[in-house]
Amino acid sequence: MMKNKVYVFFTYPRELGRTGEMLSKELLLKIGRADLAKKPKLLRTYILEYYEDDPMLDLVRAELKWLKENKHFGFSERIERIYTKREIMTAKLLWLAFEIAPKGKGGPLYGTQYDLSKACSNCGAGAVQISPLYLKPSGIKYGKKAFPTYSGEILFYPDLCQDLLNSGLRGFHFGKVLSYKTHKPLPWMQLNTDFELPRMSDETKGFIRVDKESEAPCPVCDRDSRIFTNKEPQEYHYLSDDLDVEKIPHISHTYERITKSRIGDPFETSYLHRLCISLNPM
Ligand SMILES: [Zn+2]
Repeated sequence: MMKNKVYVFFTYPRELGRTGEMLSKELLLKIGRADLAKKPKLLRTYILEYYEDDPMLDLVRAELKWLKENKHFGFSERIERIYTKREIMTAKLLWLAFEIAPKGKGGPLYGTQYDLSKACSNCGAGAVQISPLYLKPSGIKYGKKAFPTYSGEILFYPDLCQDLLNSGLRGFHFGKVLSYKTHKPLPWMQLNTDFELPRMSDETKGFIRVDKESEAPCPVCDRDSRIFTNKEPQEYHYLSDDLDVEKIPHISHTYERITKSRIGDPFETSYLHRLCISLNPM
């Protein structure tokens, strides 16, 4: 049975110094986390994890609310759904998420070319990349086999590309990643997906629309400006009339774009390419 897990983050303000450390330790002892209280703490932030139905969570929230109001502690939560292996294996569609932070900036910034003929004329959402991906290689060093960029491209190291190509999965191809300066290949390949899912249904959870005017959804296509919320787990919903999961490829991308799309002037400042990748385990 799937369960929700709540990650509780708290930080004491730097100005509190030793008092902040003592208050944090007192709280940790009170909630039965002597293990955390004992550890020397270099940063001022602690992370606690509870299943949503754990009675301890109410006590932790009450204590932290008091510390926030009276001692200016920082306190926030993120909620995630924890699925069993069986639930993951039997899901019709999965969303590919990375636990590691993005590296590098792609999009049109370093000269990557796009076909805008099928894109929204107002914001550019739906632009199709038609050249290798050009990146500034400095600073993009990663021991991981795959990672996302800040602009939403997903990069793979060649050995993992080969594993994926040998797997028999359909719906994707790999594109070259080149240095914008030398146009020489960099040690990654870009995962490109061929199939676009239909629009998600209104039942979709875990996203909010941005209410800042400069970041508001495009009034023409309404595809962009979705951001994840910490308050509920992400859950994509599609209408079965719109989507026959038996017929779609193993790997596809969403119609929706996560953050604001825009066509910039000059074009290199555009923001076009934030996709979500979905996996169909059928
Ligand atoms: Zn648009």
